[in-house]
Amino acid sequence: ILLDPGEVIDQSVLLGGRRADHIVKILRAQPGDIVKIGILNGKIGYGTIKELNRTPPRSVRLQLDLRHDPPGKPRIDLILALPRPIMLKRIVHQLASLGIGRLYLINAAKVEKSFWEASILDQDNLRQHLLAGLEQAVDTRLPEVSLHRGFRPFVENLLPQLAARYDRMLVAHPGDADHLRSVFHPGPGNVLLAVGPEGGWNDFEVRSLAEAGFTPVSLGARILRVETAVIVLHAMISLVQEA
Ligand code: SAM
Repeated sequence: ILLDPGEVIDQSVLLGGRRADHIVKILRAQPGDIVKIGILNGKIGYGTIKELNRTPPRSVRLQLDLRHDPPGKPRIDLILALPRPIMLKRIVHQLASLGIGRLYLINAAKVEKSFWEASILDQDNLRQHLLAGLEQAVDTRLPEVSLHRGFRPFVENLLPQLAARYDRMLVAHPGDADHLRSVFHPGPGNVLLAVGPEGGWNDFEVRSLAEAGFTPVSLGARILRVETAVIVLHAMISLVQEA
């Protein structure tokens, strides 16, 4: 369970709504039980259940002991050509669970224009999906998400400024590119990844990213769905990063 710092008073918190329902109905907790807790952008630890009201509206009072750091700071950011809304919801949740610093949602020639009108792109909605992913992983570091409706302005104006933050930049592109395995070697540093739209990057987009410093990489002969490619790429890099 992820708490807002303002909710905590004297190392104690009173939960209601969805979070109390979760503790009472899903975890079937009893007074004295311990649940994992994190403070948004802060520490993680445990909450001991001191009081629990089972009848709706349910409530749970927890005594907190939060002294551990969340899992390692993410050193992976992702540029993602805006996918369809239903897929974006899943990707946002999963990225927050896997650990990501920033997500840049960008336009590309094969992104459907209507995707930009989706309600999932409201900052509040994105935040809810990110928080759910963080809670899943007992992490507290809220990833940043930014929207870039023009491919060229993003690549020509913003990317040159961003590039200094990254030690490696890789764009996933099926076909002739070398396999990630032979291109990416273990080591420290920040990595920026790029995954294309369902219809793929076009030649101009891959060339522009390559000119901006990205190395095109293949994830193998199988063409993966966007969300699968995101997870595979993230997993392969983070395993090697942490080795
Ligand atoms: N027909 C499209 C193409 O050839 O690019 C397929 C696009 S794929 C469904 C969507 C995105 O996932 C791609 O733009 C790429 O970023 C990533 N992707 C999927 N499978 C991949 C693979 N085997 N190697 C590298 N990237 C891949």
